Amino acid sequence: VKYYLQRIEENKNLNVFLEVYADEALKQAEEVDNKIRNNTAGRLAGMVIGVKDVLAHQNHGLQAASKILDKFESQFTATAVQRVIDQDVIIIGRQNCDEFAMGSSNENSAFGPVRNYADASRVPGGSSGASAVAVQADMCLASLGSDTGGSVRQPAAFCGVIGVKPTYSRISRWGLIAYASSFDCVGPITRDIDDAALLLEIMAGADEYDTTVSTKPVPAYSANLEPKKHYRIAYMREALESEGLSEDVKQRTFEKINWLKDQGHVVEAVDYPLLKYLLPTYYILTTAEASSNLSRFDGVKYGYRAGAEKIKNLENLYKKTRAEGFGAEVRRRIILGTFVLSADYYDAYYTKAQRVRRLIKESTDKILSTYDFLISPTTPTPAFKIGEKSEDQLQMFLADIFTVQANVIGNPCISIPNGQSADGLPIGIQVLGKNFEESELLAFAKFLQ
Ligand code: GLN
Repeated sequence: VKYYLQRIEENKNLNVFLEVYADEALKQAEEVDNKIRNNTAGRLAGMVIGVKDVLAHQNHGLQAASKILDKFESQFTATAVQRVIDQDVIIIGRQNCDEFAMGSSNENSAFGPVRNYADASRVPGGSSGASAVAVQADMCLASLGSDTGGSVRQPAAFCGVIGVKPTYSRISRWGLIAYASSFDCVGPITRDIDDAALLLEIMAGADEYDTTVSTKPVPAYSANLEPKKHYRIAYMREALESEGLSEDVKQRTFEKINWLKDQGHVVEAVDYPLLKYLLPTYYILTTAEASSNLSRFDGVKYGYRAGAEKIKNLENLYKKTRAEGFGAEVRRRIILGTFVLSADYYDAYYTKAQRVRRLIKESTDKILSTYDFLISPTTPTPAFKIGEKSEDQLQMFLADIFTVQANVIGNPCISIPNGQSADGLPIGIQVLGKNFEESELLAFAKFLQ
């Protein structure tokens, strides 16, 4: 704990932690030491983690990196967090992120942008950017993030670490601040696959507080990390031919594909004409869900309330509070989501996007009926410069082109490091697996690493 506290102190300029629980973590460390001596320690004894500021932790601040949750403290602990605490993990602090997990660069935080440890003039990715940098810069051993459209995997790729999005419904969302409820997943960011497997195994499984969680038994992922056979792997032809793909990323991806072939696996290109519909489908449906989820932040129930001198009536209170409390990106998405759900446009956008979601699911399942995995770069480019894409929303959305598919269809997906660009920036490769087959996915990822 002392070591990590020092690393956090040395790297303050990266803007990773919103709050560090130094005294609490040191005290916990002593307790864990005692438990180890008495042979009563849990499975995560000795693991020091950070938690993204969207997961509730009783009597600790919780803000989704937003002004609207100013000074808010949670009265309960998220199930995923509680389960790791029960195994004696030590939580060292609460990590910065994009406001309400909306973003691909961690530039949308009310607390300022987070910086990439590999190059501080570059973004770490988002929205769990700080959680990835914390692991990259050795400020903690692992982080817990959330992935609605790549927010664990995309920053993991930009920071050269591992990020896992489990199957939708595998881990309870109780205590995770909702962004888009039918997409949101809790996921670990780690340096090695064994730690990711262990954290997943501990967090996953039925929860009486979240009826959408699967009741399927949770396999011992961490005890099963041997690849079982020669696999059949597909990649989408369109993905590796897409215009925005950087030469470095393309090269590293093909090198990996060729290496897999040399190892005796089958790797084949498949046509995926729906690729261009992934982002529109994702952004229509997630903004719709977000506009509904974020209606609870009204100045009455939580956190920030606009100053009394400005308030004339209740509606006015809502408007002022929300206009002042939410940042620009969050307001933009609430407006877009409200628009696609409005009576006149509902069928043209929302219903249509739901139908396309189904098509994307069916077509990906079809590929996965003859292949074990779908492989792609995690992102089309390595980390970009801070400020480079902030003026152009569509360019920013393109950073998510390969990551959103897994959330649109619910499947498990992992990003692992795959070398570097010519100028030394980390590159990631992503593997998407079959629903609830995290075991196979993790074992394959370990082999691939
Ligand atoms: N970049 C995506 C978005 O802004 C993903 C965010 C996430 O997974 N939380 O919606």
